[in-house]
Amino acid sequence: MNRRQILLVLASQTGMLWLTVNGFAAQAGKIVSSTSTPGKIRVYSAEQGDFILVDKVQKSAAEWKQLLTSEQYHVLREEGTERAFTGDLLKNKEHGVYRCAACENDLYLSESKFDSGTGWPSYYEAIAKENVLIREDRSFFTTRNELICSRCESHLGHVFDDGPPPTGKRHCINSISLKFKKLDQ
Ligand SMILES: [Zn+2]
Repeated sequence: MNRRQILLVLASQTGMLWLTVNGFAAQAGKIVSSTSTPGKIRVYSAEQGDFILVDKVQKSAAEWKQLLTSEQYHVLREEGTERAFTGDLLKNKEHGVYRCAACENDLYLSESKFDSGTGWPSYYEAIAKENVLIREDRSFFTTRNELICSRCESHLGHVFDDGPPPTGKRHCINSISLKFKKLDQ
């Protein structure tokens, strides 16, 4: 082994170590936005037209099961996905706000909804970044960015980078995770 080969071996070993360290770091940082603070959080309210302070919603699995249908529980609390083209709100074009079906936190305005052709309600942005949080989802050996409600941490769907202007994002949301509230103006 000449000097050049030794240097190459050293470089590749250092590279592998670096990758390992980064792999662990990525695993440790599962929740991108911190949602573990108990008590109150600041979220945007469409009806108030401003940010408001609300209590965080934390319930046991048994309490959620009382409150939600079994289909809702599966999607919202077990990160399930409803079948494409089956959601009640998929084709809804009324003016209003889409809220979390579990805690009524405002999530999306009708203005940001678009027809993605995927079979799930799609939005190019959340009503406010404080209301919808991103969590890294490493299930099925791929990394997708999971969207959760900031107030109750229920699963909503995933965000992708193939959305329309102005954001280029596609928030792909389960209809069953949403409740629609019509707004007058
Ligand atoms: Zn919620």
